[in-house]
Amino acid sequence: MIQPRQVAPNPDTWETGTLDFMDLLEQLRPPWMRRGSCRDHSELTWFPEHGAPGNPTAAAIAICRLCLVRTDCLTYAVDRPELRGIWGGESERGRERLRGHAR
Ligand code: SF4
Repeated sequence: MIQPRQVAPNPDTWETGTLDFMDLLEQLRPPWMRRGSCRDHSELTWFPEHGAPGNPTAAAIAICRLCLVRTDCLTYAVDRPELRGIWGGESERGRERLRGHAR
């Protein structure tokens, strides 16, 4: 649950009386995100550059398949078409297909 801030953030440091900016971001995340397997890996794995050689999404998708919060993650991402990268073991195109099937 988000705790109320006691003072406005300092724009130079984003620190507040009780929370710094990163703590605030952390508290805004849905709880399942704290249990995602991707937290132990480089963010680059889930957001490969377009046109990267080989199969740059394979590692992320393999990790997602074993993730305990995959269903929550995929549901979250399917509801948010603006999200980029791999979520819930699906690419942007894969999630787009799922949205099409849900209609
Ligand atoms: S399903 Fe994949 S992207 Fe989602 S939390 Fe798990 S590891 Fe991360």
